[in-house]
Amino acid sequence: MPDDATPDVAGTADDSAARMEAARKEHIAFLGMGHMGGPMAVNLVKAGYPVTGFDVVPAAVEAAREHGVPVAASAAEAVAGADVVLTMFPSGQHVLDAYLGTEGQPGLLATAGADTMFLDCSTINVDEAREAARLALDAGHRSVDAPVSGGVVGAEAGTLTFMVGALPEDFEAVRPMLDVMGKRAVLCGEHGAGQAAKICNNLILGVSMIAVSEAFVLGEKLGLTHQALFDVASAASGQCWALTTYCPVPGPVPTSPANRDYQPGFAGALMAKDLKLALNAVQSTGVAARMGPLASEIYDAFSAEGGAGRDFSGIITDIRDKSGQ
Ligand code: NAD
Repeated sequence: MPDDATPDVAGTADDSAARMEAARKEHIAFLGMGHMGGPMAVNLVKAGYPVTGFDVVPAAVEAAREHGVPVAASAAEAVAGADVVLTMFPSGQHVLDAYLGTEGQPGLLATAGADTMFLDCSTINVDEAREAARLALDAGHRSVDAPVSGGVVGAEAGTLTFMVGALPEDFEAVRPMLDVMGKRAVLCGEHGAGQAAKICNNLILGVSMIAVSEAFVLGEKLGLTHQALFDVASAASGQCWALTTYCPVPGPVPTSPANRDYQPGFAGALMAKDLKLALNAVQSTGVAARMGPLASEIYDAFSAEGGAGRDFSGIITDIRDKSGQ
């Protein structure tokens, strides 16, 4: 996946085994078993964690049950007696609604026992993550934000990267379960820092993919072959991940989505979502950013015009189409 170029966290194999063994007794309520959450819950069950899953969509519940995840009839039932409440939802509003409850129903924060660990792995706004953490702490719980990169393939293989915002002791407490679902977990700072790291990285990625794509279309117009431009730029100052690992034209990097008609990979809709989160953060902080907001606009249009389900590197076809013959 494109957005997981984060460093490994040190720790001996013995430390890791001991921590994992100790933590396996913790009961996890796993809420949100969609494309990502479904396989993540399965990996926790396979590793020996007691998991109770729930999703508001019955088909997701059924699919999880078929894959061996014990399921509950309601969120409240899943959360009863849980040490950890793990959420993997589409947006921050879903997280806040679930924490606080809607339509007079009590939320997860009120339902959970005292000092429960609230571990949110959804990708959401930094401000929402901080608000979710504040609400959890005010209700007497603990809070960790741990958005992921690695996509559905990484969720299935247990090779996700987690970018974590938490107090150090809470990071240590959840690390064994993160190690089951992923291959890297990086503590980025306190609450909200995991979300901040994720959107900053994806801002770089979105902007750089557009730049690489524009350069290749310009090269085509100027009579350069793709291979010639790749050979020069990949060994020169234009070098970047979007070029050398995820090259948006077929040929130079055989494993890139361009070689399979831009099947994702990392879908345009997800890039548009992450850039919108980055844009929100740019606006709330007052950063004088221009490229990030423009990339957000470009990926919004790409998504709306048929690119939502294509790989985000397919943006090059859009640039080429709009460039005339
Ligand atoms: P998804 O829509 O497939 O799954 C989300 C699930 O949450 C759905 O099944 C939905 O029914 C459930 N849900 C919503 N509200 C709920 C509630 N109150 N209680 C229980 N279940 C509830 O989305 P996904 O692709 O699995 O992505 C999940 C998160 O991970 C998103 O924030 C996304 O941005 C992020 N993410 C996704 C990918 C990817 O490749 N799909 C990669 C990295 C990060």
